[in-house]
Amino acid sequence: MKHILVTGGAGFLGSHLCDALLAAGNYVIALDNYFSGRLENIQHLITHPHFSMIEHDVNNPIFVTVDAIYNLACPASPIYYQHDPVKTVTTNVMGAINMLELAKRNNACILQASTSEVYGDPEVHPQTEDYRGNVNPIGPRACYDEGKRCAETLFFDYHREKHLPIKVVRIFNTYGPRMRADDGRVVSNFIVQALKNEPITVYGQGLQTRSFCYVDDLIQAMIKMMATDSTITGPINIGNPGEFTIIELAKKIIALTGSSSEIIYQDLPIDDPIQRQPDISLAASVLGWKPTIALDEGLKKTIDYFKE
Ligand code: NAD
Ligand code: UDP
Repeated sequence: MKHILVTGGAGFLGSHLCDALLAAGNYVIALDNYFSGRLENIQHLITHPHFSMIEHDVNNPIFVTVDAIYNLACPASPIYYQHDPVKTVTTNVMGAINMLELAKRNNACILQASTSEVYGDPEVHPQTEDYRGNVNPIGPRACYDEGKRCAETLFFDYHREKHLPIKVVRIFNTYGPRMRADDGRVVSNFIVQALKNEPITVYGQGLQTRSFCYVDDLIQAMIKMMATDSTITGPINIGNPGEFTIIELAKKIIALTGSSSEIIYQDLPIDDPIQRQPDISLAASVLGWKPTIALDEGLKKTIDYFKE
């Protein structure tokens, strides 16, 4: 039985990853400081004989014996990552160093949950892994974008200098059950607003695009990436290439919930990327993976979760 550490294990993606790794017969250790994650996301696992939980901040070193590490610890929604931007940078950078050191001591493979935000406001569309991005290094999103870029740098330096087995996945907007209602991300915001028949807050004119991946598809890709041989490091894009404007998303959610909400328009946040769509050719060829859950189907499952 493999012992696998999931940092950010009480978060949205981390908790689903813990479920999937346990179902596959692993021993799972979740580590989290509960900044944007919640104990209730993993409450159902607490009594599982092959699960343990460590309350810890990745900014501090830790030693546990593990065979593999998934590094997800970092707030992911703009509201949460801009709450304490300096801490967001250190969580990405010091957190990466501490987890890379832990991987080195264990000779364990480590996977980094990177992001499409490394491409910034992209001038290449759809985004391929060789595109180097267009990030504003001094804007309000930079703590996250540059933090994640630096984490990728550290992963590849540990790989080159210390021969550490690494995997880097660049995750595009992912949604599903266990997102926080107050998380501020577009899917959770719109669903909560629609269910309460409150105004749907579209930022800008809503013509900016995103490509939304359902959580189950994403988790399968992460696990497949970890299972690749040591020559495969990534970075590899993971996401659903179906591209929608934010106004299309708002209308879809109003229709699926049968809501009487009106759409209102608010200021577009600074540096909000205008378009985003993953090129997933590399994931298809290297992982034999493609997403299977269409936006309508995934939204229905997510709406059911928020109804409860
Ligand atoms: P989330 O906020 O629900 O999960 C992040 C988890 O990390 C939370 O449980 C939080 O408490 C924990 N955490 C934050 N700072 C920590 C610290 N210093 N020490 C220990 N734990 C800490 O967000 P998520 O959507 O589940 O994202 C998980 C990872 O995936 C993040 O690294 C994020 O950047 C990445 N990602 C997510 C998306 C997405 O669309 N969901 C897209 C790109 C990348
Ligand atoms: N957005 C919006 N209304 C909201 C929340 C977000 O119009 O209530 C927009 C936001 O400006 C962005 C897109 O939806 O263009 C996706 O935002 P999110 O924060 O979910 O993800 P990210 O910008 O990090 O991709």
